[in-house]
Amino acid sequence: MRLASYHIHTTFCDGLDTPERMVKAAIKAKVQELGFSAHSAWPLTTEWHLSTTRFAEYIDTVRSLQEKHKKRIRILCGFEADYIPGVTAPDSSIYKQFSPDYLIGSIHMLLSPSRKTSFGLWSVDGAVEDVAHGLAQVFRGNGKRAVQLYWHTVREMVSSCDFDIVGHLDLIRKRNGVLHFFDENEGWYKRELAETVRTIARSGKIVELNTGGMARKAIDGLYPSDTLLSLLYKRNVPVTLSSDAHCADDLVFGYDSALAAARRAGYQEIHFLGRDGIEAVKIDTVGSSS
Ligand SMILES: [Zn+2]
Ligand SMILES: [Zn+2]
Repeated sequence: MRLASYHIHTTFCDGLDTPERMVKAAIKAKVQELGFSAHSAWPLTTEWHLSTTRFAEYIDTVRSLQEKHKKRIRILCGFEADYIPGVTAPDSSIYKQFSPDYLIGSIHMLLSPSRKTSFGLWSVDGAVEDVAHGLAQVFRGNGKRAVQLYWHTVREMVSSCDFDIVGHLDLIRKRNGVLHFFDENEGWYKRELAETVRTIARSGKIVELNTGGMARKAIDGLYPSDTLLSLLYKRNVPVTLSSDAHCADDLVFGYDSALAAARRAGYQEIHFLGRDGIEAVKIDTVGSSS
């Protein structure tokens, strides 16, 4: 059984456990490939990103764990890099100096479309109150405008940046179950999805089946939704499994559900970051924690 997680966080950013503890938990759970993906927004930092003063320490720590445990587990050093147009991007040219094994490109915050507002960044990923406050301040409560800007920014990131995995593709859904600021069944939303899937398919990037929202009880299912996953399948977009774990207990959380969702959409293969590049593995030989 093949088992991997390329999306995990540690005490270097907003995770609860040290890298060493994550490695021990991974070995115990029979994970064969573990990718560290600290939140990064180089050359900026926030309270939940890897500090710019600790990049060298992060890389040294992961590389020494890689060497120490190489007989038992394959460890990769990556980043979950934010995309904020004109500010920071998940692009190999920006991160080349750190020689990462891979990059995840993610959007957690959107820049205000209007310079008149003093509330410049809207957190898509924040607490319910913060997401609601940003919607009111930045978009005057216009959910459709906010969601359309989100998908436009995803497409811009995918088509303009050189990275490997698209992180939690429809994170915009995270607080919609409580705030109801858009309807996934409306035509305009479906058109945004279709256009985004076409852009991803052209890029050759991998999309992750991210169980992190389930683990933290923010959402019932995966990112992406079943509807979006079916569209991705129809356009032959490769997918991988990721837990987006912020603690050792969640390292392979919800993998059974993720595999079931992939099968429902039609997928027969899951992709891995192999030693010789991207590798397609038959879904029946991909493991969960049990
Ligand atoms: Zn993220
Ligand atoms: Zn993450």
